[in-house]
Amino acid sequence: MRVLVVEDEPLLAAQLRDALSAAGYAVDVADNGKDAHFSGEVEPYDAIVLDLGLPIIDGLTVLRRWRAAGRNMPVLILTARDAWHEKVAGIDAGADDYLTKPFHMEELLARVRALIRRAAGQASAEIACGPLVLDTRRGRVTVDGNPVTLTSHEYRLLAYLMHRPGQIVSRTELTEHLYAQDFDRDSNTIEVFIARLRRKLPPELIETVRGLGYRLACRT
Ligand code: CA
Repeated sequence: MRVLVVEDEPLLAAQLRDALSAAGYAVDVADNGKDAHFSGEVEPYDAIVLDLGLPIIDGLTVLRRWRAAGRNMPVLILTARDAWHEKVAGIDAGADDYLTKPFHMEELLARVRALIRRAAGQASAEIACGPLVLDTRRGRVTVDGNPVTLTSHEYRLLAYLMHRPGQIVSRTELTEHLYAQDFDRDSNTIEVFIARLRRKLPPELIETVRGLGYRLACRT
């Protein structure tokens, strides 16, 4: 899963990037509305955390432009304290959720998880696929109740597939959702991660669909 953080306060931006990275997301950061608007237009983010008070173009305008252009990724807005009208304007502009500053990082992480789950049509914090269970709250994976140790990249790849059970996901799509913008991307590494996951999980779980990509086969 890949998240864009739009925040012009350097300390808060760094805290958000660190917390989201630790939670297993690939994270890009923009510190002004112009860069944020561009990134949100061209990159396929799974969620965006958007501060409303931004240099160059304000957050509300950025959000309106994304929605007017048909960009429908989940957006969580950050609003100033005592500015209830910002929440109303933000929700009317197409925000999916909001948090008022200052906020607890745990709450932000929970809201981002919920937005990503809902966008994938998953209501529960635990996603199951046959014997495989992904606990999105703890970032843990079990098979038949036994914990499986995954690296952050393996976890990110598996979490992306588990939010889309039964769907064919191409290597390009996986690459776009697994790595941050400045990461040196190589779609061949996806094959390496898939091979490693197959060794750690029931091997028939991740199917290769020749020429198209991969699919998580969930049989109960
Ligand atoms: Ca700000």
